[in-house]
Amino acid sequence: MATLEIECPVCAEVLELTDQDRAELQPGDVIVCDSCNAEMEITRNGGGEDFELELLGILTTCPNCAEEFEVTEELLATAPTLHASDGSEVSVVNCPHCRASIELEFEDGPEGRSLSSQ
Ligand SMILES: [Zn+2]
Ligand SMILES: [Zn+2]
Repeated sequence: MATLEIECPVCAEVLELTDQDRAELQPGDVIVCDSCNAEMEITRNGGGEDFELELLGILTTCPNCAEEFEVTEELLATAPTLHASDGSEVSVVNCPHCRASIELEFEDGPEGRSLSSQ
């Protein structure tokens, strides 16, 4: 069975979609990266290599209230950044549920880039 490999735009994890997976997916459907929880909307799903995704955001869990919310590129673009004590750069966003300030850090690990909240 043919398998399409797509690279997650956030963490570069390779996601494999089989023909069967693709038969069940339609433009407008959302798939989630196993590794970093990025949400991607399918914009094209034709045959063969005719497949395109658009990054929607990254689902993260608020460490304060444990509610999930989505971190979008737009949100990150407007979020102030701080330098953490270890020298890494973190983005500060507010939880939409409890308004807590959450520091988000993109980590370069052996598994690729991942988002961690602190
Ligand atoms: Zn990912
Ligand atoms: Zn919260």
